[in-house]
Amino acid sequence: MTVALFTLGGTISMAGSHRLTGADLTTAMPGLTDLGHEVEIQDVEKIPSANLTAAKLLEVVEAAAKAVAAGAAGAVITQGTDTLEESAFLADLVWPHPQPLVFTGAMRNPTLAGPDGPANLLAALRVACSPAARDLGALVVFTEEIHAARWVRKTHSTSTATFRSPNAGPLGHVVEDQVRVLTRPARLESIQAQADLDSIRVALYTVTMDDDALLLQGLADTHQGLVVAGYGVGHVPAALAPVLGDLATRIPVVLTSRTGAGSVVRNTYHSPGSETDLLRRGLIDGGFLDPYKARILLRLLLATNSGIATVFEKYV
Ligand code: ASP
Repeated sequence: MTVALFTLGGTISMAGSHRLTGADLTTAMPGLTDLGHEVEIQDVEKIPSANLTAAKLLEVVEAAAKAVAAGAAGAVITQGTDTLEESAFLADLVWPHPQPLVFTGAMRNPTLAGPDGPANLLAALRVACSPAARDLGALVVFTEEIHAARWVRKTHSTSTATFRSPNAGPLGHVVEDQVRVLTRPARLESIQAQADLDSIRVALYTVTMDDDALLLQGLADTHQGLVVAGYGVGHVPAALAPVLGDLATRIPVVLTSRTGAGSVVRNTYHSPGSETDLLRRGLIDGGFLDPYKARILLRLLLATNSGIATVFEKYV
């Protein structure tokens, strides 16, 4: 049997000015011969992940779907870590297949002592081949931890243990050569992949002290949606509440927390700018979704004309 590998660039492939291919990454990788699956490689891009687009990512997901339809046990996508949490979540939203779609990368490039790329890639390939990892959607495998794309975040700018799921923890681990899945979250229905995301602009707005909302002026004329990263459990300065409420009458506005973990609340605070005030003004509850993931979901829903509030309810 085979496993498909798609390479998109990032630190895992950065050997000085030279960019490693999938063949370079897998040749002489210790442990690969025990995998029992032939790795079918497609080198797609050699770019920093900041330059990765949703359109390109969806193309690769489509190619991965073809690979599993042709019999691959699963697929691995290597890319830069900077945007990996966004890519993996977008892929998860559109991936209906039982086969694992696994994202990985590296924090330490191959010219440094102790590069993490080879271990991450081998663990990702093991997960992609494993029956235990089926029906879990898109996954992120890093430092031998298996994370759900839906919950994982890049939490540190340099640490190799940067990928964490603060609200849920990892789904499992790769121990020796074994894929050990400890918890299996229910999968949500996938969303149509054939959407044109390029035409959909969704802004992400982080609330800060003394915010005068000037940046939000005219936003509904240029953007189809807005995600607000509010304070704490979903609060904004009182003066911002009517501005956001007005915007919510024209475009969907999703309320999330800028804290990095935890949910926005629904019914605890009642002052102007609090969560109850904002929800009453028509903002959508982003629940446990972090601002970046909420933005991906809102953009996809806008592109596919799906019922926004209904789908957000399932994700929060
Ligand atoms: N800046 C790099 C990228 O995202 C970082 C990495 O790959 O880890 O492409």
